Amino acid sequence: MVSVSSTPVATMVNPDGSWAWDKFQDFLPSSVLLAIAAVRPPSAHVTDHIGWGGDDRRIFTVKSAYSLCAGDDQGIVSPLWKAVSKYRGLPRIRLFFWLVFQGKILTNSERVRRHMSNDPGCGLCGASVEDLSHLFRDCIEARMLWSRVVKEEKLTGFLTLDFQTWLASNFQNLQDFSINPEDWDIAFGTYLWNIWRRRNERLFSPDIIPSEDIYHRSLRMIAELGRASSMLRLHQHAAPNLTADVKRWEAPAAGWIKINTDGSRNTSTGLASCGGVGRDLESRWCFEFAKGIGSCSCLEAEFWGIYEDLATAWSLRYPRVFIETDNREAYETIVSSNSRKVGSSILPSIFELLSRSWEVQVGFVRREGNVVADAISRLVLPTSLEYRRWLEVSLAIRDLVMADGIHDAISGTQLPIQRAYDDLGGR
Ligand SMILES: [Zn+2]
Repeated sequence: MVSVSSTPVATMVNPDGSWAWDKFQDFLPSSVLLAIAAVRPPSAHVTDHIGWGGDDRRIFTVKSAYSLCAGDDQGIVSPLWKAVSKYRGLPRIRLFFWLVFQGKILTNSERVRRHMSNDPGCGLCGASVEDLSHLFRDCIEARMLWSRVVKEEKLTGFLTLDFQTWLASNFQNLQDFSINPEDWDIAFGTYLWNIWRRRNERLFSPDIIPSEDIYHRSLRMIAELGRASSMLRLHQHAAPNLTADVKRWEAPAAGWIKINTDGSRNTSTGLASCGGVGRDLESRWCFEFAKGIGSCSCLEAEFWGIYEDLATAWSLRYPRVFIETDNREAYETIVSSNSRKVGSSILPSIFELLSRSWEVQVGFVRREGNVVADAISRLVLPTSLEYRRWLEVSLAIRDLVMADGIHDAISGTQLPIQRAYDDLGGR
């Protein structure tokens, strides 16, 4: 009989590194066993320690505790926050917007409410209350600005909308009001930012005479942002980096094999499998495998696929490997060598394989270029925990392989199938 309190997890592992199922499978329900199956067994030297269950990395954070208490895995996300987080303009304006939405901007009425002052009035026009609506819509400078950029027939409607609705709809690029609707969300944010800025300049640096009015200053900022974004796009386009959106399978360079990898997970059962396929310059089949993983996240299934691909390629002694995934998070985690960001049991093993003496590159491909690996990953039942390797193109995916563009790549000749397993003495 196993005593849970005194038996470390590392003793539940066979000498070959696999889980010693016979030691614990009778004590646990199948759902837990399937979750354990998706975890890479620890090495014998590892000691147990307690981790925080509310976070994937097992590290306590106030945020994860709050999410647990709120009974919401995703945390509380307001629709306004979503709109703010998607704002396309300057980050400082995005943050400023969030403060405006929350009513945290220190207008004179807010200062009175916080007992910081006795005078809620507007320092510019003398109105009795300077609140957000007054500052951003009714005060003289704001009025002048809006009458310049909002259609005349829409101006009254624009200025009388409920304030929160006004903020949210303009911020989400509602273009009905604007004379120049292009990028209205960016312009709107910039106008608000400059109204606030000008108000503070007047208050705190009264001697400074501005060289531009709010309208022209905003136009200059918008133009600068536009130039910076187009330069960034140009740069991204010009750089031959691996993150380019490759849509179609492309053969690797001479001397390399390309492995396409994928993980798939059933959203209702949470069960996952992974698969991979290695091909060379002439599109010859090097290997193909699928594995049932058990119960885990999409990302973990993706990591399992990458691990099994690399382990297979290493065992088959390929010296240069280009591995391609359609999961951007998996790709970015691996190229940034950031094992701490995600709590994955298999990621350290991937980094260990990558550190061996061979050449490995990792690339990102769009789903359309990864259809074969996707289909292969579904060739086993996730519950089977089975690892299957094929030496030839399996019948189930033959049509897809042709659709993947390989037929074209070898100028209409028949698909050659390599007996890599025999040739290279694989495992
Ligand atoms: Zn005023």
